[in-house]
Amino acid sequence: MALINDHFLKLTKNYLFADIAKKVNAFKATHPKANVISLGIGDVTRPLPPAVLEAMHKAVDEMGTVEGFHGYGPEQGYAFLREAIIKHDFLPRGVKLDATEVFVNDGAKSDTGNIQELVRWDNSVGVADPIYPVYIDSNIMIGRAGVNVDGRWSNITYMPCNEQNNFVPQIPDHKVDIIYLCYPNNPTGTVITKEELKKWVDYAIKNDVLIFYDAAYESYIQDDSIPHSIYEIRGAKKVAIEFHSYSKTAGFTGVRCGYTVVPKELTVSALDGTRYPLNPLWERRQCTKFNGTSYISQRAAESIYSPEGKQQVREIIGYYMTNAKIMREALTGIGMKVYGGEHAPYLWVKTPNGETSWRFFEQMLYSAQVVCTPGVGFGPAGEGYIRLTSFGERANCEEAIDRIKKWL
Ligand SMILES: *Cc1c(COP(=O)(O)O)cnc(C)c1O
Repeated sequence: MALINDHFLKLTKNYLFADIAKKVNAFKATHPKANVISLGIGDVTRPLPPAVLEAMHKAVDEMGTVEGFHGYGPEQGYAFLREAIIKHDFLPRGVKLDATEVFVNDGAKSDTGNIQELVRWDNSVGVADPIYPVYIDSNIMIGRAGVNVDGRWSNITYMPCNEQNNFVPQIPDHKVDIIYLCYPNNPTGTVITKEELKKWVDYAIKNDVLIFYDAAYESYIQDDSIPHSIYEIRGAKKVAIEFHSYSKTAGFTGVRCGYTVVPKELTVSALDGTRYPLNPLWERRQCTKFNGTSYISQRAAESIYSPEGKQQVREIIGYYMTNAKIMREALTGIGMKVYGGEHAPYLWVKTPNGETSWRFFEQMLYSAQVVCTPGVGFGPAGEGYIRLTSFGERANCEEAIDRIKKWL
């Protein structure tokens, strides 16, 4: 008899985007002429840059020749991409990595979900709140989350991020084995300074804590005093695994490519106290369960490191960041409290008069025909906020902001 992995049955359905769609559809049914603008989308909208297109076309042509055909590639990624990553994303920031520490993947979601396979099921987990849902759900699936009491998992420490702590959580006052951090942050759009990140690294070294650091939005950082990588902090290679993605950087949400860094210095203890490096374990895991990202996607990713590629990516990010600036200034101008949006494509907006996230969502939909994402959908500490994304078309952003201004 096959028995189900009943941890999957514990997963609460992620109703957030389904609930939003339901409410938007109900509005459209009663207001068929309304032109609804969505500032809720989490997907990019700008097309792929020309350097990427050229690289992909070339790779496709190669694949059609006997000499240029590429079948299974190395599970860890092609050397040309791993070397470009080290040379362009890390060396200029003073971080030296070996190619064997970089694992190319099909996007950061897979690895942020899969990485927890490397540690025992009975580790305790700390997550920033609000949060990207993958971190918690992947731990529920393997049975690490404990029991759900009033919407919170007993073996998960929720570390609230709010105005009081500038959206950087307090270091837990009790034992936690694994910590998930994401900066620049989705959903709050806020960043962490080097000094604050150093506190986390020092804490992890002192207390033997493993950090999973999601840097999916690092290319949105506009000021190089803000860390792009946790490895800019001394000692971080001993305690942190870092995730990168080309999805929000270069419009790769449909192309699929990213990478994970597992430093060789990083070791984790076994029950008998022996320490083992995670790098060979992750390599073994990938070789067993993953057959590599397509050659075409990896050539596409490589192309964004060329001078033209870099310039074109800067333009795309500049487009989204200008959207963010327009929205941020307009909303601040009418007295709203707006966080994020300076080094990330997200604005985290406090609802006026202490409205709940959902109530403000509905008011904005009915009064301005603009869709946002209720902050509470990302975790309990998101209550009283909404998230706006700057991934839309410029004209839509401007129109949406005009309507919100008129309404408020
Ligand atoms: C979009 C996103 C990712 C990356 O997703 P991909 O699988 O690379 O497309 C990772 N982490 C966060 C927080 C994100 O918002």
